[in-house]
Amino acid sequence: MRIDIITIFPSMFSPVLNESIIKRAQEKGKVKIYIHNLRDYSVDKHKKVDDRPFGGGSGMVLTAQPIFKVVEKIKKKITSAKVILLCPQGEKFTQESARRLSSEKHLILICGHYEGVDERVRKALVDKEVSIGDYVLTGGELPAMVLVDALVRLIPGVLGDKNSLNFESFEGNILEYPHYTRPANFKGLCVPGILLSGDHKKIETWRKKEALKRTKQRRPDLLKFKIREEK
Ligand code: SAM
Repeated sequence: MRIDIITIFPSMFSPVLNESIIKRAQEKGKVKIYIHNLRDYSVDKHKKVDDRPFGGGSGMVLTAQPIFKVVEKIKKKITSAKVILLCPQGEKFTQESARRLSSEKHLILICGHYEGVDERVRKALVDKEVSIGDYVLTGGELPAMVLVDALVRLIPGVLGDKNSLNFESFEGNILEYPHYTRPANFKGLCVPGILLSGDHKKIETWRKKEALKRTKQRRPDLLKFKIREEK
């Protein structure tokens, strides 16, 4: 998979993309991530990338010119790339959408800023608009990092144990069961005895029951969908 990210704040990405699992995924060649500084594509002599909105009103808008230029340049190499605009008005990002997007070969992520991007970018360049939730952030950089993190861990071979993906919240429309680790008794708070029994069948039944209980308590809306059995 290849992901190209277009931003006016390229240095925001390095601390996140060069750590832990995302870093290792790049080292293993599972994903290639390229960051493009939008200012490098501006034809303005001051490298300006924003302007005041037509019709008046507050804030600045990212202009179409540099965004078209960088997307067209990337697409010259990889014509099949899917262009995603991070946008609070877009389709809400879920585990299901992360799964769908993780099977794409090439994504281009556009990070908006200020009041957003010129509408012609949406109309002529963008295949999909994605929101990470019903709130407004200052820019698309954090949402882009959320997408990259959620997608990359789903690429086969990125996580050491592929079972950690099957037994996970939202996989199969159910929340995950509770976890415990050593010690068995911590300040008088004890691990449920069944988990120490060594009886794998009973542990599995307990976990399924707890996952269902948790989902009913916290996210009953998920139970509208059929619970998918793990692979
Ligand atoms: N004026 C826009 C509106 O009311 O819909 C909000 C613009 S926001 C301040 C600036 C940029 O942050 C957006 O263009 C988008 O790229 C990003 N952004 C903010 N909230 C987001 C969210 N919930 N999901 C995805 N991107 C978001």
